[in-house]
Amino acid sequence: MASTLFINGKIWAGKADAPIESALAIEGSKILAIGDAALALTCDSTVDLAGAFISPPFADGHAHPLFGGRQSFGPQITGLESVEEILAEIKRFADANKDLEWIIGGTYDPAIHSDGNFDAALLDSVVPNRPVVLNAMDYHTIWVNTEAMKRSGVDTFTGELEVGTIVRREDGSAMGTLREWDAVNLVMDAAPAPSMAREIKALEYSSKRYAADGVTWWLDAWVDRGMAESYLAAEEAGVLLQGVNLAFRADPRTWEEDLPYFLERRKEIESSPKNKSLTAKTVKFFADGVIEGGTAALLEPYTNDPCSHGMPVWEWPEMTRAVLAMDKAGFQVHIHAIGDAGIRASLDAIEAAIKTNPMWDRRPTIVHVQLLDAVDLPRFTELGIIANFGPLWTRQDPMQAVSSAPRIGPERTDRQYLLRSLLDNKTRVAFGSDWPVTSEVPLEGIAVPVHRQTPDRKPAGGWMPHEAITIQEAFQAYTHEVAYQAFEDGSWGTLAPGFNADFIILNSSPFECDPHDVPALQVMKTYRNGEAIYSR
Ligand SMILES: [Zn+2]
Repeated sequence: MASTLFINGKIWAGKADAPIESALAIEGSKILAIGDAALALTCDSTVDLAGAFISPPFADGHAHPLFGGRQSFGPQITGLESVEEILAEIKRFADANKDLEWIIGGTYDPAIHSDGNFDAALLDSVVPNRPVVLNAMDYHTIWVNTEAMKRSGVDTFTGELEVGTIVRREDGSAMGTLREWDAVNLVMDAAPAPSMAREIKALEYSSKRYAADGVTWWLDAWVDRGMAESYLAAEEAGVLLQGVNLAFRADPRTWEEDLPYFLERRKEIESSPKNKSLTAKTVKFFADGVIEGGTAALLEPYTNDPCSHGMPVWEWPEMTRAVLAMDKAGFQVHIHAIGDAGIRASLDAIEAAIKTNPMWDRRPTIVHVQLLDAVDLPRFTELGIIANFGPLWTRQDPMQAVSSAPRIGPERTDRQYLLRSLLDNKTRVAFGSDWPVTSEVPLEGIAVPVHRQTPDRKPAGGWMPHEAITIQEAFQAYTHEVAYQAFEDGSWGTLAPGFNADFIILNSSPFECDPHDVPALQVMKTYRNGEAIYSR
C-alpha cells in the first residue's frame, strides 16, 4: 500500500484543545501517524502543504440532501429578495420547461413579505394553467398557485386539519399559503413522484456538492417511504461519495404500521452486497414546528397571539410511546424540537426510553434546540443527549429579527441557542446545516456561533455574546462530535493512527483569521478513505 507524508502544514486532530502539528502520514485508507511520529517515517511520496491547514472532514449531522438535490432541478429562487424576482424566475423556468407538468421548487424566504402569507394570484399571473408549488425555506410551508389547489382539491370547503393550516382570504377562499404536514400533503400527494433515474441524479448532485464543501458524511433527517429506496439505488449505482445515514420519519398517525417497513429497509440496506457507505440507524421525530411560522410548541403563549402555544406535531404521551418503540427496535432517536415545550417533551420522551428499555449505546439527539428553558438545560448532560445546532442560525438574520422576534418578544428572543451554556455543562454539541433550509457549506456557518453576528457585523459585540463559543469548539462540533452522533467516532472525526484517512485541506488556518473571514477560506481537497473525492 502506497504511503504519503504531508509536511509543512498546520494539522489539527479534531478536539478543541488539540495542539497544531506539522505533519500527517497516511497509508492506503488509514492514518499512519501525526506530528513528529509522522516525520520520523519514510513514505513513498511527500506533499508539501506550504502552510495549508488539515482537519478532520466536516460531517453534516442534520440535513435533507435528497430534497436539496431535487430542488436543484427546479426554479432557482433561494436568496431572491422580492416577490417580483421570484415571479420572474418562475416564469423563466416555466418557459424553459414547457413539458414539465408540475413546477416544484424552493426555497423562498417568508420574511420578504411581512406576515409570510403569499397569494396564489401572484403565481397565477406568471403560470396560470400548470400547478406551481414553492417550498418556504423552513420546509414547513408552501406557496402554491390556483391550479395546484384545483388539482389537489383544496378550496373554500376544505375542512379544519389536525396538524396544518390553510391560510384563507377574507372571503374564506384558500389564499395559496399552506402550513405543516396535513396542509402541505394535501397538495404534494397530488403531485407526480419523481422517477428513480431523477432521484439518483439528485443524490449525485448533492454528493458532488458536499464533496466540494469538505463533507464526507451526512444524516438525511427526513426519509419518507420511497426515499430509502432512492438512496440504496444511488449507492448501488456508485454515485454517493460520502457515508450516509438515513433517519426514517415517524409520523404521529402511521408510525406503528411504518415500523415494520423501517426494519425491512434497514435490513435490506445492511445486507446489500453493493452497499459500502449507507446505513439506516435513526428515526426522526418532529416534536413541533418553527417559531417564525407560529408552530413551535411554547411553554408560555405567543406574544403576538396570546391564545396560541404553537402547534405540537404529536400528543406528547403518544410521542413518548413511539420513542420507546423505536428505541426498543434499536433505532437512534433524532428529534426536531424548537420551542421550550417541544424540547421539554422530547427530553421527557427520551428519559422514559432510558428508564424503560434495556441499556444500550443509544446516543439520542435533539436538533435545533432553539428556545431552551433553563430548568431543562442540565438534562441534556444527565440523559446523554446530543444537542445538534444549525450554526448559521445563531445570528439576528431577517428570519430572527423580522419573522421570529415579534412572535416571542424580546425576553425570549434573547434566550436562544445556548451553545456556551450547554458546552460549559459538558453537553455534546454537534452541528448540522439543515440544507436546503439553509446553506450546506460548513465554512459559511461554522464561525457564526463564534461572533453571533450578521455578515455586516451586527449587532456590535454579537447577539447574546455570553453564548459565543470558540472557533476550535465550532470545528469540533462540525467534525468529531458528528462522528460521535454517527457512532463512527472510532473510525473518523479524529486524526490519529488507525483512523480512516478522512480529512480536508483548507488553504489556510481558520484559527488564525478574523472569524468573519472563515467563509472566504477554500477547501483544496477532501479525502475519504485515503482517496481525494474532491480536488480544487
Ligand atoms: Zn431539518
